[in-house]
Amino acid sequence: MLERGGRVTPRTPRLVVSVHDASPATASESRQWVSQLDDRGVRTSILVVPGPWRGRTLADDPAFAAWLRSCVEHGHEVCLHGWDHAAPTSEPARRAVVGNLVARGCAEFWSLSEDEAADRARRGLDVLAGLGLATTGFTPPGWLASAQAIRGLRRVGLHYVTTHRAVTDLRTGRRFRAPVLCHRPHSRSERAGAALMTRGPGLFLRAGHMLRIALHPDDLLRPGLREASLRGIDAALEAGVVALTYGDLLDTNPTHVDLADQTTPDGVLVVGQLRRTATDR
Ligand SMILES: [Zn+2]
Repeated sequence: MLERGGRVTPRTPRLVVSVHDASPATASESRQWVSQLDDRGVRTSILVVPGPWRGRTLADDPAFAAWLRSCVEHGHEVCLHGWDHAAPTSEPARRAVVGNLVARGCAEFWSLSEDEAADRARRGLDVLAGLGLATTGFTPPGWLASAQAIRGLRRVGLHYVTTHRAVTDLRTGRRFRAPVLCHRPHSRSERAGAALMTRGPGLFLRAGHMLRIALHPDDLLRPGLREASLRGIDAALEAGVVALTYGDLLDTNPTHVDLADQTTPDGVLVVGQLRRTATDR
């Protein structure tokens, strides 16, 4: 069982590492990432796609669900990561352009109505609950959610939602800004991005600040990216962060930290260049 983060004061730098796109189709990659985090004593938020994605559904794979339950017992957190991780085909053109650029075609919650978002989130929560996996957190695929969709997430009882810019407590409405480091495999600036992942903790972690590092299954296709992510996590740990899950982060009563001058206008440190092709992310 991993420790729950130790003593956290208002000046303690915080780190949330999230393992994205956990599903039966990416079981091997999810296990690899969590194993690396276990080795470092880092608790993580595992973002699960419960619906049909890459040909598989969570309900069809009891072994993977059992592994997720063992992760929770070990101290990790399971979060809902959309239903099927795919942008609707009926998406308005302008939003589709943004969704493809920022989220590579996976912006499932970017143009949904409140009712549609509530329905998809409810379906996902029901699948997780049926497998003995309780969750209170949500990260929209591609970190994009419409304002209406966020109302839908609140309606189904979720406690928090994470986006490019921030972590929002849906119970209180408070938003906590936190930059994100993540890779864009196969982009032209992949190498420079990997360097930023490694140096990011030294650049952005200050007393009381929060940093997020997002790990994706496709990052493991590139050994250099895998190593850069692990070096970044190690650097953050050496800098004295307390590594928390998203759920525990809110329990530490973080203060609002405005890092806008250190991030892109979108508040995100995307490592690598945006791609136009719509691939799962
Ligand atoms: Zn995703």
